[in-house]
Parts: sequence; structure tokens; C-alpha cells
Amino acid sequence: MSEKRIAAVVLAAGQGKRMGTDTAKQFLLLDGKPVLYYALNAFEGSEVDTVVLVTGQDEAEYCKKEIVDFYGFKKVKAIVTGGKERYHSVANGLRALKQLPGETGVVMIHDGARPFVTAEMIRELAEETRVHKACVIGTPVKDTIKIADEVGFCAQTPPRNRVWAVQTPQSFEFRLVGDAYEKLMEEEQELIAQGIQITDDAMVVEYMTETRVRLVEGNYTNIKLTTPEDMVIAEAFLQKTKK
Ligand code: C5P
Repeated sequence: MSEKRIAAVVLAAGQGKRMGTDTAKQFLLLDGKPVLYYALNAFEGSEVDTVVLVTGQDEAEYCKKEIVDFYGFKKVKAIVTGGKERYHSVANGLRALKQLPGETGVVMIHDGARPFVTAEMIRELAEETRVHKACVIGTPVKDTIKIADEVGFCAQTPPRNRVWAVQTPQSFEFRLVGDAYEKLMEEEQELIAQGIQITDDAMVVEYMTETRVRLVEGNYTNIKLTTPEDMVIAEAFLQKTKK
């Protein structure tokens, strides 16, 4: 069997303005450790063998010294700078991965602000990616979702059993997602002109390729830290796992 690597691009280049803190949310402390530690730790203990970490220009040194070296994350093989939008950061991470020696088979793209990813989720995504080429982890929504019109009235109510909230990791054949992102960068201005906002990686594959993206059912605990109350929830989850 040819041994292509399973890689992860972990994103930590956002400013996280909705958290309302001076420190970006991925570096806030959760039980004494930076939020980003938890995702890197999960990948370190998983079948992923290479991690590319994407950070802001000013945080690269801090991430290397205080997180990667300090906690001894051996799988982090490159630290690169992100871009203005999340998808710019992903594109930079994928390009860095392409430049590493050896071949990548599967890449998982993960928000550094999601500390509760587990080795089990990673294992399942790797397996599903071998079958489906593109998959995202998520959960069926608990609330009823309304699509609003432009002036704040309910326009549509999609059937709840068909609506999923998707999370990360989002996992792909490397070549598929690499090509999709290159195409996105070429067509970026057209998409912006059409008012299309790229908010996740599956969307890039949906728009730029013919491949259908498989939904993999994950766990409601795999939250993204976005606003201050998410930190309270995250602390509670951590205390629970310690018991
Ligand atoms: O802002 P949002 O919550 O969507 O960010 C999701 C993840 O993407 C975070 O881990 C954040 O650090 C990262 N990100 C990035 N580059 C950006 C914007 C967000 O790496 N330009």
C-alpha cells in the first residue's frame, strides 16, 4: 500500500472579534492552557501524521515557542501565516502542505477555536474520506431554523430533519480540495461580485467541483468558541471530562 500522509491544517489566524477580548479566542486560557493546545493535542494523539498550523503574522513566534515547542507537538511540521479571510488562511495552509516532502492523501481542515475535536472523530472522518472523498462533521440542528428575507421576516422554514449545523474537521482528498482552493483564488472576485461569502471548506468543494460532500454525524460538544458564553460552556465540558 502506498503510504500517503494524513494531514491537518489547523487555523489560528483569526482575530475573533465577537469574543470581545484583546487576546484572540484561540489563545485564551481554558483550564490553564491556550484554547489552541486542545485541538493540536487531539491531532497529536490521532492517526494524522502531519499538521500545518496557520497563525497571524504576529503570533507565529508565540505559537512556536509557547504552544508547539512547550507542549512538544511533534506533528506540527510547518507554521505559516494566514490571510484576511478564513479561506485565505486555508489556501495558505494547503500550499504549505503541498511544499512539504512526500505526498498527502487526505487533509483535514480544522478551526483552532474548536478544542473538543477527538481522535475518534478524526478516525471516522479519515475512514469516510476514503469512501466519499469529501466529508464534514456536524450535527442535526436542535432548533427550528428560519430563512429570513431581507427585511427580517420569516421567508422559509426548512424541514428540521434535513438541516445540519456543520463543524470542523472537514476532511478531503488532498488533491480535490487543493485544486478547489486554487480555483477559488482565481474566481474570488467573481464570487465577491455575486455576494457569495465562503464560510467553510465544504462550500469551496461544492462550488468548485462536482464532488458531493458527505455529512458525518459528530457530537454537540464540538463547539467553536465564538462569543464569551462559549468559554463558560467550554470550561463546563472540561470539568466534566476531568471527573
Ligand atoms: O472567525 P471564525 O470563528 O469563523 O474562525 C474559525 C477559525 O478560523 C478560527 O480558528 C480562526 O482563528 C480561523 N481563521 C483564520 N484566518 C482568518 C479567519 C479565521 O485562520 N482570516
